[in-house]
Amino acid sequence: MSIAENISLIKQQLPEAATLIAVSKTKSNEQILEAYNAGQRDFGENRVQELLPKYEALPKDIRWHLIGHLQTNKVKQIASFVHLIHSVDSEKLLAEINKEAGKCNRVIPVLLQIFIAQEETKFGFSFEEAEALISASPETKYPNIRIEGFMGMATNTEHEDQVRKEFHGLKEFFGKFEIRNPKFKILSMGMSSDWKIAVAEGSTMIRVGSSVFGNRN
Ligand SMILES: *Cc1c(COP(=O)(O)O)cnc(C)c1O
Repeated sequence: MSIAENISLIKQQLPEAATLIAVSKTKSNEQILEAYNAGQRDFGENRVQELLPKYEALPKDIRWHLIGHLQTNKVKQIASFVHLIHSVDSEKLLAEINKEAGKCNRVIPVLLQIFIAQEETKFGFSFEEAEALISASPETKYPNIRIEGFMGMATNTEHEDQVRKEFHGLKEFFGKFEIRNPKFKILSMGMSSDWKIAVAEGSTMIRVGSSVFGNRN
């Protein structure tokens, strides 16, 4: 199936309130343009070095999402244009994004990445850490960032119950803040293997790579 057909098939199954982020890491500008020409505007990349040349070369109405671990020394390279950073996993990074956003006279929307998987290797805050951070009024301390929600990655497992339980837990946690704060509106969860479960559990943003563009080498 073509990239356009893949996108259309996913969108048919996606609730209207949920957004598809086409994860274009390792994919060529030509492939990204194929998705663009099918109407796709939200794209996700996980490395700054790869995002920069794509941002330069591709249409300027693309909304670029940074979805992978971000080093503080790379923030300034994307601060002027990044649409949403999904992967804020430390307060140090939050402070750096705030600083660079200030230099660009903008407010950068971010999500806190929450650790929900049973794996050792994934980045992110625990529920307790995220709650402590949000309770300390970060919007006062960091006026050039806006925390709009959470991102989470489930355990990479065949056991659907496990994945569902992890997404469900994050949705419940999200609900506590969503009620208090109208700017809190994004729950980024679900990839090619598990986005249908994520959507059933309340995801508002899915990050799908291989099911849009085909497998990565
Ligand atoms: C690569 C990646 C995705 C997409 O993965 P697929 O399995 O290809 O859909 C989603 N989220 C993050 C953070 C990624 O790095």
